[in-house]
Amino acid sequence: MSKLTPVARLIEKLDLVSSSTDCWLYLGALAPNGYGIFNDGDEGSVLLHRYAYNLFYGPIPEGKVVMHKCNVKNCCNPKHLKAGTQKQNIAQCIREGRKPKTYKKRRPVTESELNEIRTRHAAGESAYKIGKSLNRSEPLLSAILSGKTHKPKPPKPIAPATQKQKQIAALEDFSTDLKTIINANRKPVAAEKVGQKKAA
Ligand SMILES: [Zn+2]
Repeated sequence: MSKLTPVARLIEKLDLVSSSTDCWLYLGALAPNGYGIFNDGDEGSVLLHRYAYNLFYGPIPEGKVVMHKCNVKNCCNPKHLKAGTQKQNIAQCIREGRKPKTYKKRRPVTESELNEIRTRHAAGESAYKIGKSLNRSEPLLSAILSGKTHKPKPPKPIAPATQKQKQIAALEDFSTDLKTIINANRKPVAAEKVGQKKAA
């Protein structure tokens, strides 16, 4: 049995006759936002309309998005596809009363989250699993773990005052130890003498 080429597999999944507007309706898997998802085997899962555009017109120009002139998200009739800017895409959405895709601003990653991410990853947990439990995306987790973003801060240099305080504390500890040793080795008589001297 010969293996079908990606294009043949794509054609198999298309309904070319039902649409009254000549849309090529995709019968395969859809993303939650309604766009078709096609697995071309080479690059894995890709968005169908982008795949179709590339197939018929060549690479999508840099910085451009592939828009549906027909507004049917699971259509991949190349005649219904065009490359445009994201700005044009949003303008078209508004013109046609569709809600433009908005990008939510990511909530900032807290220090405690960063600690948790690094600790759990060091313990062998996958970025995917950690991300899922913290409601963070896997790419973000990978970027954090590879140091691409949220680089661990270098330890703060100890302030001179703190260093001095540490030295004083160490000296105090040392003198306490010294007193303990001296007291332990002191003969009772000697202790009395010291006591007398102090009392005097
Ligand atoms: Zn169409």
